[in-house]
Amino acid sequence: MDSNTSYDMVAFTAPSGAGKTTIVHHLLKKYSEYFSFSISATTRGKRDNEVDGVDYFFMSNDEFQTNIEENSFIEWEEVYDDRFYGTLRSEVDRVVLEGKKVVFDIEINGAQNLKKTYDERCLVIYVKPPDFQTLVKRLINRKSESPQTLEDRIKRIKKELLFEHSFDMVLLNDNLEETLAKAEEIIETYVLPKD
Ligand code: 5GP
Repeated sequence: MDSNTSYDMVAFTAPSGAGKTTIVHHLLKKYSEYFSFSISATTRGKRDNEVDGVDYFFMSNDEFQTNIEENSFIEWEEVYDDRFYGTLRSEVDRVVLEGKKVVFDIEINGAQNLKKTYDERCLVIYVKPPDFQTLVKRLINRKSESPQTLEDRIKRIKKELLFEHSFDMVLLNDNLEETLAKAEEIIETYVLPKD
């Protein structure tokens, strides 16, 4: 890894529950001068702590389909049965126009597609959970899932744990405070402009 490289984009990918959203929120706050979040579109229901147009653009299936037909997405996935997620071209354009670096929170297939599209412009960091049991415990404690969606997520986690070595970097999320410090170190070394 070349520490002189300056990336335009940073994507965090991980199995569900590995803590990547917490890491992304922390970095967006700390480096707000440099970073802006690419707000994805999704057809899943909004959680109580989420805001439409901030965390996601929440859409009906019809709206999502129209966006697919109009080629509005850089990538999209049916992450869970009948629950779609996609990266909007308009979001990446917005952030680039702001003169900032784009930050993505994205699952494994989407991250691979971003890498295909943007290659060296995009640093993809795989957030590695300590172990399978911890992930499942975190998901249950979050209380955001119904028994069915919890089962879907657990099935998917098993597959996603196999992709640890498919991306540019691995960030182990064992102890959150240490993870955030490591994430800052990566960002300051590889992503922020050097003066
Ligand atoms: P959640 O429902 O927990 O917010 O997200 C489920 C998964 O979808 C997470 O792994 C999240 O990173 C991923 N995701 C969020 N936005 C996008 C997107 O635009 N494209 C893809 N492919 N995955 C996304």
